Amino acid sequence: MTLMKALCPECECRIDLRLGEHEMGTTLFCPECETELEVITLRPPLLDYATRHTWTEAD
Ligand SMILES: [Zn+2]
Repeated sequence: MTLMKALCPECECRIDLRLGEHEMGTTLFCPECETELEVITLRPPLLDYATRHTWTEAD
């Protein structure tokens, strides 16, 4: 399993991203500041504030 570190845009803590578990568009919560974040890209690993586009909702 490949583990990468991405910076939280809110508190700048490092958050683990796991290839296979996280992919572009995956949303997660920062463990430090609890901001909802979205994976923008994995190469490089980059997080941004989650946006709630309906087109990203699978179900
Ligand atoms: Zn944070």
